[in-house]
Amino acid sequence: MTRLILFFLFAVLFVSGIAQSQAQPLEVVTTTTQVTDLTKVLVGDLLGDSIVITPLMGAGVDPHLYQPTESDVVAMNRADAVFYSGLFLEGRFGELFEALGERDALTYAVSTPVKDAGFTFGGFTLSEEFSDVDDPHFWFDPRNWQLATEGLAEQLAAFDPTHSDTYLANAEAYVEQLTLLYEWGVEAMSTVSEERRVLITSHDAFQYFGDAFGWEVRGLQGISTEDEAGVADIQELAAFIIEREIPVMFIESSVPPDAIEAVQEAVSRAGGSVGIGERVLFSDAMGAADEFGGSYIGMIVTNIVTIVRGFGSEAPPLPQELGELPEELAG
Ligand SMILES: [Zn+2]
Repeated sequence: MTRLILFFLFAVLFVSGIAQSQAQPLEVVTTTTQVTDLTKVLVGDLLGDSIVITPLMGAGVDPHLYQPTESDVVAMNRADAVFYSGLFLEGRFGELFEALGERDALTYAVSTPVKDAGFTFGGFTLSEEFSDVDDPHFWFDPRNWQLATEGLAEQLAAFDPTHSDTYLANAEAYVEQLTLLYEWGVEAMSTVSEERRVLITSHDAFQYFGDAFGWEVRGLQGISTEDEAGVADIQELAAFIIEREIPVMFIESSVPPDAIEAVQEAVSRAGGSVGIGERVLFSDAMGAADEFGGSYIGMIVTNIVTIVRGFGSEAPPLPQELGELPEELAG
């Protein structure tokens, strides 16, 4: 956070006091692609006339490293509500969220109900300042995303009571879809034989995913992409891959591929061989909004189809309530 941006923030605080007339739509700012998607699902047909959403991050953007721009600060200070992921995922937003908390706007982390229910994995170190933090990638267990859905719907219902029925009904329908997604995911991830169920990715974003579907997970970097993988980490992971005869690793859409490629080289130098998944996985950012992988459900489905295919298996047909697999995924 630069001084300039902070100055800008406080300057805008004064201007934002101007009252909004009832006729104007409510302005909502969302940070990550996952939070944007969930907000859109819950807002449904109210989008446009009643609610306007300004998303800050797009496809392929790493939220750990994303630095809010001046226009982001302006948008957040105009907003009636700011929804973010939380658990320090948006690592460069700390002071900004604190300052927003001083304002009379709704500022809400969608991870809140998951944290409150005790479903987050704790005890991680981000820096000297943050030595006991939770793994922020809670969305990768669809059961956690159900809690997040219900929590955000309640926030929206209280914030805009005129439309509370719409938010709660949209949440109920979506939770049903997420149940189907979870059940399909369990079935799909079980098509790989038990002793081979190890998911290897660039950074440690998939612990909740592994927990949801009964897979062991190894990330080369830690829970934040701020951590750099060292030579020792690469050697250690290469040895693990050879020992466990793991056939494939995966690159993430929001993390550069170099480190995973270095592991692949280390495995070959040691006389082994390991492939790289035919498609990148979506971890901290989903696909573009107009793509299949640009929704939460599409992101999870794309990842699962890609992972099981990397292990030579095939996922079962997708329930029709979850949409149709695009041609490039249909195999
Ligand atoms: Zn991450």
